[in-house]
Parts: sequence; C-alpha cells; structure tokens
Amino acid sequence: KGRIMKALEEKIIREGIVKKGNILKVDSFLNHQIDVAFLDEMGKEFQTLFQKHPINKILTIEASGIGVAVMTARHFQTVPVVFAKKSKSSNISDELYHTTVESFTHQNTNDVVISKQYLNENDHVLIIDDFLANGCAVLGLIDLIHQAGATVEGIGIVIEKGYQSGGKKIRELGYHLESLAIIDHMDDIKGEIVFR
Ligand code: 5GP
Repeated sequence: KGRIMKALEEKIIREGIVKKGNILKVDSFLNHQIDVAFLDEMGKEFQTLFQKHPINKILTIEASGIGVAVMTARHFQTVPVVFAKKSKSSNISDELYHTTVESFTHQNTNDVVISKQYLNENDHVLIIDDFLANGCAVLGLIDLIHQAGATVEGIGIVIEKGYQSGGKKIRELGYHLESLAIIDHMDDIKGEIVFR
C-alpha cells in the first residue's frame, strides 16, 4: 500500500462512523466538509495509477463524486470533469443520454442524464466516485459512456466496500478498477472497520 492509501485508512479509522444499514459516514473530509489538501493528494494518486491511459475526460455523478473528480483533474493536463445529473422529472430528450441508477444510500431509483454535448465517441474516460458498494452508480456511468460511443479507460474509487458485489462485477468485466481503500468488514455495534 502506498503512503496516501495508508493515510486514508488512518483517516477512516479516526473520523469515519459506521452507521446501521451498512453505511460508512465520512462527512468530516469527503461527504459534507471537504478536506481539500487530502482530496488533492488522492487526486494525485489517481493520476499516478492511471497515467498509462490516454484520458481526456473525467466522469462522475452528482453530488459526492464531484470534489474528488475535480481534484483528480487538477493532476491531468487540461482534462475537464463532467458530472452526470440525477433528474427528478423523467425529462426524456434527444439531447441527453439516459440511464437509471439505484441509490444505495437512499434506496430509490434515479434517472441519471448527461448532455450529448459533453460526451462523445472521441472521449477516453476516467470514472471517479467516492464509494463503491453494489456497483450501480459505476455501471450506470459505464452505460452512459457506451451510449456515447466513448471508451472507459478506468475507474477510480476512494472507498470500496469489498464485501459488496460492485468491485467483483466491475473487475470481472475487465475494467481497470483502483480503490484507494478497500473495507472487508464493518460493524456498526462495535464501530469496527477492517481493511483488506
Ligand atoms: P453503489 O451504486 O455502488 O451500490 O453505491 C455507490 C454510491 O452510493 C456512491 O455514489 C455513494 O454515494 C453511495 N454509497 C454507497 N455506500 C456508501 C457508504 O457506505 N457511505 C456513503 N457515504 N455513501 C455510500
């Protein structure tokens, strides 16, 4: 494990709170307050991990992926960040790519869209998100990339809950997936977090 991966594990142990229903709260640095210097270091790590790929765009999903995606883009040369939007109304339109994503944290389904203006067949995309659980968010983004005829170059995740199915699914599909921290076990009663 690299230095930033160890620092992330320590930060999760120190600041993370295990909630009922298999949710890890990391509001102190990622999901509510943002530790900009720390996200910047994670962004640098993602750039290092994916430097062999010809990435020209970073894709995430609103809202919690945006911070780390932006900090990652800072370490690539002139690479924009596009975030897929959760649309409440089913606003079917020729100008949008559509998919549906089941929300792990809110247990509902969102229609998720990207304007065709911002994703096309020339794009080589790095997907960035905060958490990987069952993989619905990432698989939804992959679906949007494929609709655009673009190429998935890789997937960078801050925290993977390794005992859920998403990581296995995405690795089996052959994608280059890198998670900065992988949790193998969490217990909300004991407040315990075990890393891979
Ligand atoms: P998936 O789609 O892989 O099942 O879940 C990933 C999405 O759900 C992420 O975009 C993240 O926002 C949210 N999520 C899943 N598990 C957790 C968790 O334990 N803590 C937090 N804060 N978000 C989670």
